[in-house]
Amino acid sequence: MREGTLIHAATGVHLVHGSNTNWVILSEGDAVTLIDCGYPGDRQQVLDSLVAAGHSPEALTAILLTHAHNDHLGSAEHLSHTFDVPVYAHAAEVPHARREFLHQVSLGRVLRNGWRPGVLPWAVHALRSGGTTDARVSRPRPFPAEGALDLPGRPVPVHTPGHTAGHCAYHLGGAGIVISGDGLVTGHPTSRARGPQLLPTM
Ligand SMILES: [Zn+2]
Repeated sequence: MREGTLIHAATGVHLVHGSNTNWVILSEGDAVTLIDCGYPGDRQQVLDSLVAAGHSPEALTAILLTHAHNDHLGSAEHLSHTFDVPVYAHAAEVPHARREFLHQVSLGRVLRNGWRPGVLPWAVHALRSGGTTDARVSRPRPFPAEGALDLPGRPVPVHTPGHTAGHCAYHLGGAGIVISGDGLVTGHPTSRARGPQLLPTM
Protein backbone atom coordinates (compact mmCIF):
# COMPACT_ATOMS: atom_id res chain seq x y z
CA MET A 1 0.00 0.00 0.00
CA ARG A 2 1.09 3.56 -0.57
CA GLU A 3 2.79 5.18 2.39
CA GLY A 4 0.39 7.12 4.58
CA THR A 5 -2.63 5.10 3.42
CA LEU A 6 -2.90 3.07 6.62
CA ILE A 7 -2.86 5.05 9.84
CA HIS A 8 -2.59 3.38 13.22
CA ALA A 9 -4.97 5.65 15.13
CA ALA A 10 -5.08 3.77 18.44
CA THR A 11 -4.67 0.26 19.79
CA GLY A 12 -6.78 -1.93 17.54
CA VAL A 13 -7.89 0.98 15.33
CA HIS A 14 -6.59 1.58 11.80
CA LEU A 15 -7.84 4.38 9.59
CA VAL A 16 -7.42 3.72 5.88
CA HIS A 17 -7.42 6.46 3.25
CA GLY A 18 -9.18 5.03 0.22
CA SER A 19 -9.25 6.64 -3.19
CA ASN A 20 -11.60 9.38 -1.98
CA THR A 21 -13.25 8.07 1.17
CA ASN A 22 -11.99 6.35 4.27
CA TRP A 23 -12.71 3.14 6.08
CA VAL A 24 -11.72 1.91 9.52
CA ILE A 25 -10.44 -1.46 10.69
CA LEU A 26 -11.16 -2.40 14.30
CA SER A 27 -9.10 -5.32 15.56
CA GLU A 28 -9.52 -7.47 18.62
CA GLY A 29 -7.17 -10.43 18.69
CA ASP A 30 -7.71 -12.27 15.42
CA ALA A 31 -11.09 -10.72 14.69
CA VAL A 32 -11.88 -7.62 12.68
CA THR A 33 -14.78 -5.22 12.26
CA LEU A 34 -14.71 -3.17 9.06
CA ILE A 35 -16.48 0.19 9.10
CA ASP A 36 -17.32 1.25 5.52
CA CYS A 37 -15.67 -0.11 2.37
CA GLY A 38 -14.85 2.82 0.07
CA TYR A 39 -15.98 2.72 -3.56
CA PRO A 40 -16.71 -0.56 -5.35
CA GLY A 41 -13.47 0.09 -7.23
CA ASP A 42 -11.53 0.20 -3.94
CA ARG A 43 -12.06 -3.53 -3.32
CA GLN A 44 -8.47 -4.64 -3.73
CA GLN A 45 -7.32 -1.79 -1.53
CA VAL A 46 -9.77 -2.88 1.18
CA LEU A 47 -8.35 -6.41 1.08
CA ASP A 48 -4.78 -5.11 1.02
CA SER A 49 -5.48 -2.85 4.00
CA LEU A 50 -6.69 -5.77 6.09
CA VAL A 51 -3.44 -7.58 5.35
CA ALA A 52 -1.41 -4.43 6.04
CA ALA A 53 -3.18 -4.13 9.41
CA GLY A 54 -1.99 -7.65 10.20
CA HIS A 55 -5.07 -9.70 9.32
CA SER A 56 -6.22 -12.09 6.67
CA PRO A 57 -9.55 -11.13 5.09
CA GLU A 58 -10.98 -14.27 6.73
CA ALA A 59 -10.64 -12.42 10.06
CA LEU A 60 -13.63 -10.28 9.08
CA THR A 61 -16.41 -10.64 11.65
CA ALA A 62 -18.82 -7.94 10.53
CA ILE A 63 -19.15 -4.92 8.27
CA LEU A 64 -20.71 -1.74 9.63
CA LEU A 65 -21.90 1.10 7.44
CA THR A 66 -21.98 4.75 8.39
CA HIS A 67 -24.44 5.07 5.50
CA ALA A 68 -25.28 3.43 2.21
CA HIS A 69 -23.77 5.74 -0.42
CA ASN A 70 -21.75 3.84 -3.02
CA ASP A 71 -18.47 5.35 -1.83
CA HIS A 72 -19.00 3.81 1.62
CA LEU A 73 -21.03 0.72 0.69
CA GLY A 74 -18.43 -0.34 -1.88
CA SER A 75 -17.72 -4.05 -1.63
CA ALA A 76 -19.94 -4.75 1.38
CA GLU A 77 -22.12 -7.19 -0.57
CA HIS A 78 -19.13 -8.96 -2.09
CA LEU A 79 -17.26 -9.24 1.23
CA SER A 80 -20.42 -10.34 3.05
CA HIS A 81 -20.92 -13.20 0.59
CA THR A 82 -17.27 -14.16 0.27
CA PHE A 83 -16.52 -14.28 3.99
CA ASP A 84 -20.04 -15.03 5.26
CA VAL A 85 -20.26 -11.99 7.51
CA PRO A 86 -23.22 -9.73 8.31
CA VAL A 87 -23.57 -6.12 7.18
CA TYR A 88 -25.06 -3.83 9.82
CA ALA A 89 -26.51 -0.35 9.48
CA HIS A 90 -29.00 1.82 11.33
CA ALA A 91 -32.58 0.60 10.86
CA ALA A 92 -33.38 3.78 8.89
CA GLU A 93 -30.47 3.05 6.52
CA VAL A 94 -31.33 -0.61 5.91
CA PRO A 95 -33.85 0.06 3.09
CA HIS A 96 -31.37 2.50 1.55
CA ALA A 97 -28.65 -0.19 1.58
CA ARG A 98 -31.12 -2.51 -0.14
CA ARG A 99 -31.70 0.27 -2.70
CA GLU A 100 -35.42 0.44 -2.10
CA PHE A 101 -34.62 4.09 -2.78
CA LEU A 102 -31.45 6.01 -3.58
CA HIS A 103 -30.75 9.14 -1.61
CA GLN A 104 -27.67 10.33 -3.52
CA VAL A 105 -26.74 13.31 -5.64
CA SER A 106 -27.84 12.75 -9.24
CA LEU A 107 -25.45 12.83 -12.17
CA GLY A 108 -27.44 15.76 -13.61
CA ARG A 109 -26.96 17.79 -10.46
CA VAL A 110 -23.24 17.01 -10.44
CA LEU A 111 -22.96 18.15 -14.06
CA ARG A 112 -24.87 21.37 -13.31
CA ASN A 113 -22.21 22.02 -10.64
CA GLY A 114 -19.40 21.10 -13.01
CA TRP A 115 -18.16 24.68 -13.16
CA ARG A 116 -17.22 24.58 -9.45
CA PRO A 117 -13.55 23.88 -8.61
CA GLY A 118 -12.75 20.20 -8.34
CA VAL A 119 -16.22 18.94 -9.20
CA LEU A 120 -15.50 17.40 -12.62
CA PRO A 121 -12.34 15.48 -11.59
CA TRP A 122 -14.21 14.23 -8.51
CA ALA A 123 -17.18 13.15 -10.67
CA VAL A 124 -14.92 11.36 -13.17
CA HIS A 125 -13.21 9.51 -10.31
CA ALA A 126 -16.59 8.59 -8.83
CA LEU A 127 -17.80 7.20 -12.17
CA ARG A 128 -14.60 5.21 -12.72
CA SER A 129 -14.73 3.82 -9.18
CA GLY A 130 -18.27 2.49 -9.38
CA GLY A 131 -20.00 5.50 -7.85
CA THR A 132 -23.10 4.88 -9.94
CA THR A 133 -23.04 1.07 -10.18
CA ASP A 134 -25.52 -1.17 -8.40
CA ALA A 135 -23.74 -1.87 -5.11
CA ARG A 136 -26.83 -2.78 -3.10
CA VAL A 137 -26.60 -5.07 -0.09
CA SER A 138 -29.14 -7.87 -0.33
CA ARG A 139 -29.53 -8.55 3.39
CA PRO A 140 -28.37 -5.62 5.51
CA ARG A 141 -29.29 -5.95 9.17
CA PRO A 142 -30.28 -3.31 11.70
CA PHE A 143 -28.16 -3.16 14.85
CA PRO A 144 -29.22 -6.01 17.12
CA ALA A 145 -29.32 -3.92 20.30
CA GLU A 146 -28.86 -0.46 21.77
CA GLY A 147 -25.40 0.67 22.87
CA ALA A 148 -22.04 -0.93 22.19
CA LEU A 149 -22.12 -3.67 19.58
CA ASP A 150 -20.78 -7.06 20.58
CA LEU A 151 -18.17 -6.94 17.82
CA PRO A 152 -14.41 -6.38 17.67
CA GLY A 153 -13.71 -2.83 18.87
CA ARG A 154 -17.09 -2.56 20.67
CA PRO A 155 -18.21 0.41 18.51
CA VAL A 156 -21.24 2.37 19.71
CA PRO A 157 -23.52 3.53 16.86
CA VAL A 158 -24.72 7.12 17.20
CA HIS A 159 -27.58 8.01 14.90
CA THR A 160 -26.63 11.24 13.08
CA PRO A 161 -29.34 11.72 10.42
CA GLY A 162 -28.96 14.47 7.85
CA HIS A 163 -26.52 13.34 5.19
CA THR A 164 -28.86 10.34 4.88
CA ALA A 165 -31.80 9.39 7.11
CA GLY A 166 -29.97 6.52 8.76
CA HIS A 167 -26.45 7.95 8.84
CA CYS A 168 -24.52 6.81 11.91
CA ALA A 169 -21.31 7.81 13.55
CA TYR A 170 -19.48 5.22 15.62
CA HIS A 171 -18.00 6.05 19.01
CA LEU A 172 -15.01 4.14 20.30
CA GLY A 173 -15.17 5.17 23.93
CA GLY A 174 -11.98 3.48 25.06
CA ALA A 175 -9.91 5.10 22.32
CA GLY A 176 -11.59 8.52 22.43
CA ILE A 177 -12.43 8.27 18.73
CA VAL A 178 -15.52 9.13 16.74
CA ILE A 179 -15.85 7.73 13.22
CA SER A 180 -17.96 10.43 11.67
CA GLY A 181 -18.68 9.07 8.17
CA ASP A 182 -19.96 11.86 5.95
CA GLY A 183 -21.53 13.71 8.89
CA LEU A 184 -18.24 15.54 9.43
CA VAL A 185 -15.23 15.29 7.10
CA THR A 186 -11.68 16.64 7.08
CA GLY A 187 -11.58 17.48 3.38
CA HIS A 188 -13.24 16.84 0.05
CA PRO A 189 -11.94 17.02 -3.54
CA THR A 190 -14.44 19.81 -4.20
CA SER A 191 -13.51 21.83 -1.10
CA ARG A 192 -10.46 24.04 -0.69
CA ALA A 193 -10.77 23.92 3.10
CA ARG A 194 -8.78 21.47 5.19
CA GLY A 195 -9.81 20.35 8.62
CA PRO A 196 -13.19 19.51 10.13
CA GLN A 197 -16.03 20.68 7.90
CA LEU A 198 -19.42 19.74 6.56
CA LEU A 199 -19.62 18.30 3.06
CA PRO A 200 -20.37 20.74 0.23
CA THR A 201 -24.14 21.29 -0.04
CA MET A 202 -24.35 19.45 -3.37
ZN1 LIG B 1 -22.27 10.00 1.63
